Amino acid sequence: MSFALTRFILHLGFSCEKPSNRRSYGFLLLNPKRSPFCSAAIPPAQKTGEGLLVVVGGGAAGVYGAIRAKTVAPHLDVLVIEKGKLLSKVKISGGGRCNVTNGHYTENLILAEHYPRGHRELRGSFFSTHGPTDTMTWFSEHGVKLKTEDDGRVFPISDSSSSIIDCLLSEAKQKGVLIQTGKVVTSASRDVGGNFLLKAEKRTTNYMENLKADYLLIASGSSRQGYVLATQLGHSIVDPVPSLFTFKIEDSRLAELSGVTFLKVRVKLKLENVQTNIPQLVQVGPMLVTHWGLSGPAILRLSAWGARHLFSSDYKGDLLVDFIPDIKMEEVKSILMKQKHQFTKQKLLNACPLEFGIVKRFWTYILDREGVDANILWASISNNSLIGIASLLKQCMFRVMGKGQFKDEFVTAGGVPLSEISLSTMESKIQPHLFFAGEVLNVDGVTGGFNFQNAWSGGYIAGTSIGELALMKKEADFGAKVEQGKTPS
Ligand SMILES: Cc1cc2nc3c(=O)[nH]c(=O)nc-3n(C[C@H](O)[C@H](O)[C@H](O)COP(=O)(O)OP(=O)(O)OC[C@H]3O[C@@H](n4cnc5c(N)ncnc54)[C@H](O)[C@@H]3O)c2cc1C
Repeated sequence: MSFALTRFILHLGFSCEKPSNRRSYGFLLLNPKRSPFCSAAIPPAQKTGEGLLVVVGGGAAGVYGAIRAKTVAPHLDVLVIEKGKLLSKVKISGGGRCNVTNGHYTENLILAEHYPRGHRELRGSFFSTHGPTDTMTWFSEHGVKLKTEDDGRVFPISDSSSSIIDCLLSEAKQKGVLIQTGKVVTSASRDVGGNFLLKAEKRTTNYMENLKADYLLIASGSSRQGYVLATQLGHSIVDPVPSLFTFKIEDSRLAELSGVTFLKVRVKLKLENVQTNIPQLVQVGPMLVTHWGLSGPAILRLSAWGARHLFSSDYKGDLLVDFIPDIKMEEVKSILMKQKHQFTKQKLLNACPLEFGIVKRFWTYILDREGVDANILWASISNNSLIGIASLLKQCMFRVMGKGQFKDEFVTAGGVPLSEISLSTMESKIQPHLFFAGEVLNVDGVTGGFNFQNAWSGGYIAGTSIGELALMKKEADFGAKVEQGKTPS
């Protein structure tokens, strides 16, 4: 239904809303199966009538942003519309523990390096305004005790994402943020007065409502509908592609090592369509063998930095793994040679050089891949085989055949380009009073709490900016009334 038609029907007086309720924002609910028009989206008793912020999306960025806006401008009506369940990704995040942020990188420049999309832009004011330390302080001050693990990941001490959800929802309630679930915002436009005209629908029932808002925060994550709203308001979208995934490797012998972890490997991704040397396509860190390929922080970082190139290569490429990056090739060869002379009477299988720090199962894999019988004695191994083993340990090649799912965390690269918003306010450069925060933007981080940090920082900055605009408007309205000789209430 068009807004013009809505207004026309309102004028005819078919609505069951009281006129005073309609006036502020023109909320309507259309349910053809029952009466044509009835109740408002915000119950009249809960409205202040001093401006409305609609937040599309009740995820981390949306809820945090809504709380912040209502904290800065308590007189502002703040309505979060969520199509599914509130904070559903927070719930499942970090294997149900919610890796809230990362406590090891408080320096902006280094923190920004953890964002394959955003690393240049996020070096500035973004994290200075609200960075990981501020996030930790916020949650601590709101009753959630946090702990930082050895690798920097920050979790609630309860090891349960419910602590974060309960905290956010109770704070939203206490501040007076209104939340509606089960509704999808399907379209957005602006009227001549600059108000946002939004359409919200319930897909299951034949239900539609029109809303008029003064401020709009799109915090819709990677949902397609969010991108549609952004484009309706004049923004472009960088094509969304997956980030943070595991590598599928077809190697039945490797699959037998499923569960084996390497504390430190050096991995290098070689893709046919990438000719230039991209430094981030080399990563150092832990790696895990899974039943169908390779995972772990080093691989996930590669998947994030290579997300676009991997997408255009159909997730096919070569992976070079250095299993012992701290030992140089020449040294590896001399260790093997020493072993041959020292352990002449021992079987290869039972005497892997300790310096390599590798488990027996993996040593067997290397011998097998080199085509050496693991039961022969060290004395009988050829020098050529020793060189082959050294090469496998230092430059083992795996063919990547596709991408898998990393169940603990995955994100989308792409979204609204950062060049189209001001990162100091999160306001659109195209539409005043339109704001974005979280994954809807072309920002994504590597694993370790960086993605939520983007949501908290963006939500906080957007909420602050909207709250301040609403305060300024209130002051201006007050001033205008004084000038007109009216006594403001
Ligand atoms: C399994 C998993 C585990 C993760 N674990 C971690 C972790 O431990 N640490 C970390 O930093 N990151 C983690 N992430 C990434 C993190 O969850 C996201 O980066 C973060 O949730 C983004 O927040 P957001 O608010 O921008 O988007 P979302 O959390 O996706 O929220 C957007 C919300 O908007 C709603 N919505 C969208 N369009 C509309 C519409 N048109 N109308 C109404 N509602 C709409 C959606 O239903 C959704 O609830 C994980 C991701 C996954 C999938």
